[in-house]
Amino acid sequence: MKMSENDPAERIANNWQAVQQSVADALATSGRPAGSTKIVGVSKYVGLPETDLLVQAGCKTLGESRPQALWAKAEANQLPSDVQWHLIGHLQRNKIRRLLRHSVIIESIDSERALNAVAEISADQRITTDVLLEVNISGDEKKTGFAPEELPRLMQNVPAKGISILGLMAMAGWGTDPAEARTQFEQTRLLRDQLRTESGLELNELSMGMSGDFPAAIAEGATIVRIGSKLFEGVR
Ligand SMILES: *Cc1c(COP(=O)(O)O)cnc(C)c1O
Repeated sequence: MKMSENDPAERIANNWQAVQQSVADALATSGRPAGSTKIVGVSKYVGLPETDLLVQAGCKTLGESRPQALWAKAEANQLPSDVQWHLIGHLQRNKIRRLLRHSVIIESIDSERALNAVAEISADQRITTDVLLEVNISGDEKKTGFAPEELPRLMQNVPAKGISILGLMAMAGWGTDPAEARTQFEQTRLLRDQLRTESGLELNELSMGMSGDFPAAIAEGATIVRIGSKLFEGVR
């Protein structure tokens, strides 16, 4: 029997295919290798059943902005154990320990305190947590993240144990038009290049681009895009 257009499983599978295709097209247009941008499926808008449908459709990397939502889904023991979680929202110190049980990549390190706390707790557990530093590239006062000019000093003094800094995460400002968003992504890449030269760290990851602006981010070198709305269109 043919499933109906409104079947959530079919909708999510179609959306996942379409997003993968758009990412592949954007990479080809930019002359970048196929597969050089990873898609994080941002499941913060939906519950466990829809999240599970996305994983079944083939998306094995999931992002949540709230630590509690991330661990609730991970601890329900319904999703396959090879799901890789990314935290993409603000992290309070008292949430770190429980979060670290789930081998998360923390994309949203937004202060020196947060960086040091994750490093300390990870080192205590004899693990190394992969993190990205969140940059407030738009300068929007309501946005979290480091001011770009803070990072050169921070990078001179990173904790030696417990964390590995993989790169930068950034968001274009609210209501930014696509041309302006692209400029902000370019600034993020240039900042990464500068920090790479100064620190000697590789900083290979650039997480930038969401449903509304990911082609521009890919054109500017995004290695990770964080896509939510487009994957759950027609489902909620
Ligand atoms: C919600 C969110 C996303 C996903 O945004 P969409 O526009 O729904 O794709 C990406 N990054 C962060 C940090 C978010 O909070």
